[in-house]
Amino acid sequence: MQEKKERDITIVGCGFAAVALGISLKKAGLNNFTILERSNEIGGVWRENTYPGAACDVPSRLYSFSFEQDYPWSLRYAPQKEIFEYLKHCIDKYSLTPHIRLGVNVTKASYDDESAKWSVVTKSGEEIALIYSFQQWVCSTTRQFLTSQVKNLLRAHNFIQRDGTITLI
Ligand SMILES: Cc1cc2nc3c(=O)[nH]c(=O)nc-3n(C[C@H](O)[C@H](O)[C@H](O)COP(=O)(O)OP(=O)(O)OC[C@H]3O[C@@H](n4cnc5c(N)ncnc54)[C@H](O)[C@@H]3O)c2cc1C
Repeated sequence: MQEKKERDITIVGCGFAAVALGISLKKAGLNNFTILERSNEIGGVWRENTYPGAACDVPSRLYSFSFEQDYPWSLRYAPQKEIFEYLKHCIDKYSLTPHIRLGVNVTKASYDDESAKWSVVTKSGEEIALIYSFQQWVCSTTRQFLTSQVKNLLRAHNFIQRDGTITLI
């Protein structure tokens, strides 16, 4: 096990949800957070799904963040590549890059009864301790990519609703 780091907030995965959350945290003046992404690239769904014709099924403006509406979409229903570029644009514009760590796979989140704190463990054995409690600050944004272990954890803490949606915070 490597040296334990401390973060106020750890966000697992770097898709649309993480980018929105990261930008919101920065706007709120919270900067001691990290986004851990197991792939070597950001983007989630819009990185993974590159099949011909992959595109937004709602108008691009509606799929855009409320705070980043002024984007030169080429089509009413933007293609995958453009949505992927939009996410990168938001990361750049809102200076999220220093918070993102690529190629970091979260394998475990464990709770310490004594300190009432959670820590996150990665595949390489790194442990990140969270200053606040899990309910407030471990934010899993991974939906389709959740392992059953993490799903059970989220369910135990009422993050997963009956209809399968996940409440982030
Ligand atoms: C093919 C396809 C098309 C879609 N089209 C639309 C659409 O047109 N309109 C619409 O509204 N919605 C659409 N969706 C729904 C889409 O899932 C959401 O709109 C949104 O992009 C999901 O973002 P997210 O950040 O929640 O999750 P994701 O985009 O799934 O991002 C999760 C990230 O977490 C990472 N991750 C997973 N596990 C770990 C781990 N253990 N450690 C570290 N990182 C991890 C993954 O690599 C991934 O990058 C589509 C979904 C799919 C699959």
